Amino acid sequence: MKCDDCTLCCKLLDVFWMDSPAGKWCRHCDPKNGCKIYNLAIPQRCKEYKCAYNAMEKCNPSLRPNNCHVIFERIGENKIMFGLVDPDYDINSVVGKQIKAFLKDGFSVVIHRNGTFVVHRAKGVELPWIKQEVKKRMEMFKNDRA
Ligand code: SF4
Ligand code: SF4
Repeated sequence: MKCDDCTLCCKLLDVFWMDSPAGKWCRHCDPKNGCKIYNLAIPQRCKEYKCAYNAMEKCNPSLRPNNCHVIFERIGENKIMFGLVDPDYDINSVVGKQIKAFLKDGFSVVIHRNGTFVVHRAKGVELPWIKQEVKKRMEMFKNDRA
């Protein structure tokens, strides 16, 4: 899939390599038109980032992050869908249905919004393992800073 007119990772991710903290638009982002430095000096890390929507071959456009206001990433050896919610929005019914679909497909789902985590466990999956994988995801960028 393509990002099309989505730019939400330029807001929700901790883009520390551009001094852009999570929750604020990167200063190089024009939310409607994309990265203003794309053709000049877009960092490799930005180029390489793919959310779950982007990585899928087919996906309902209503789940594109700029439409549903959530960025899903696969973590935990692809067994967990980690959802970063735009703090300016609530979870909508499209996302609610998708969470159920992920659970049906055997994924656990963790929703992160404004520092709060909500965990939906797939059958038979232990909570401590999910917590450990989420901790790794949260520390990933922190460790990269060091
Ligand atoms: S959040 Fe996903 S779809 Fe949106 S710009 Fe980033 S990678 Fe592309
Ligand atoms: S440099 Fe460009 S692609 Fe990277 S976060 Fe900023 S606006 Fe987005």
